[in-house]
Amino acid sequence: MSAVIEKFIRYVKFDTQSDTETGLTPSTPGQMFLAKELTKELEEMGLENVSLDENGYIMAVLASNLDHEVPTVGFVAHMDTSPDFSGKHVKPQFWENYDGGDILLNEEKDIVMKVADFPELKKYKGQTIITTNGNTLLGADDKAGVAEIMTAIEYLTEHPEIKHGAVHIGFTPDEEIGKGADFFNVKKFGAAFAYTMDGGEIGELQYENFNAAFAKISFKGRNVHPGMAKDKMINSMLIANEFLTRLPENEVPEKTEGYEGFYHLISMAGNVEESNLQYIIRDFDMHNYEARKQFVQSLCDEFCKKYGEGSVSLEITNQYYNMREKIEPVKYIVDIAEEAMKQVGVEPMIIPIRGGTDGSRLSYMGLPCPNIFSGGHNFHGRFEYVPVESMEKSVEVILKIVELISKR
Ligand SMILES: [Zn+2]
Repeated sequence: MSAVIEKFIRYVKFDTQSDTETGLTPSTPGQMFLAKELTKELEEMGLENVSLDENGYIMAVLASNLDHEVPTVGFVAHMDTSPDFSGKHVKPQFWENYDGGDILLNEEKDIVMKVADFPELKKYKGQTIITTNGNTLLGADDKAGVAEIMTAIEYLTEHPEIKHGAVHIGFTPDEEIGKGADFFNVKKFGAAFAYTMDGGEIGELQYENFNAAFAKISFKGRNVHPGMAKDKMINSMLIANEFLTRLPENEVPEKTEGYEGFYHLISMAGNVEESNLQYIIRDFDMHNYEARKQFVQSLCDEFCKKYGEGSVSLEITNQYYNMREKIEPVKYIVDIAEEAMKQVGVEPMIIPIRGGTDGSRLSYMGLPCPNIFSGGHNFHGRFEYVPVESMEKSVEVILKIVELISKR
């Protein structure tokens, strides 16, 4: 078994599922158990400044062995797994020389991963695939990334003849509940830029994501006995209904892709007296993003005119921004990753993320941070899987990036 797989199999046995409800960081104690194990391994490898803080953030430094200055690169991955599906008692299964057909994950429960549902499986015919046993997620998101970084670093410590600049390592808790960047000390981390090893399938390289806002719109009505309601009752639900039909019907997640933005109604609730709509607003382009928020505001103003002052109120909050703005000025860091992939025989797939990453937040905190594949598929559920060959390539990409930087 190759080093990266041995590590991966060990790490997925830690239950590190994060939890939105505890209000703690890390949100669950299991993450700290894995963090302690990783800290121990980093120390055993002889890294410098290995630290694990009370919030579960690990940082460590592989010192430069060059006699000249090169930029300090960082690699970042998250230790938690999604709250959406159990990560307890993960029992990975190996499918060697995969035949390209359906995979029976669990005979007892008759859980089958079908090629008809997941046609990308066919790309891995002849490779070794690691799956779950159908009862849990796998945790390749993002323990594949953790194992890949650990393996690359271990390789460099075992091969001192390979010349490299300083490489800084960061492992974070609670990415899956959107808090992975909250207590990330960018200054202490001390890298000029970094890569999150948290993408999906082999070749993924991402440096663009949505600008994101959350909007809550409240409608006030007036309840009166329906028998005496003429010219008196105002039904807030009907106003809310009128409002939502004014948003462009094709600009919704289920009808958009690529660089197209949307207004997504995520919740509606109400009665005659009061109704609420909740939207998330997404756009890659900052100008369009502002225009979308402005459009919602102007609709609210218009409805206030029609139904009376205070009848409609809007609360809008920015959630995160497109990291492209912060990466464009240092675009060479994307070029290095792209070149590294090509040199190890991986075809780069540069695609925008229709969501956010911790890297986008880190980029706005001063650490430009594109995202690179860790190799997995079908994250956050029982059908999660990762091909061994993709993880091994990811390790090669990390090593090649370090090499390319050492030659700058
Ligand atoms: Zn992830």
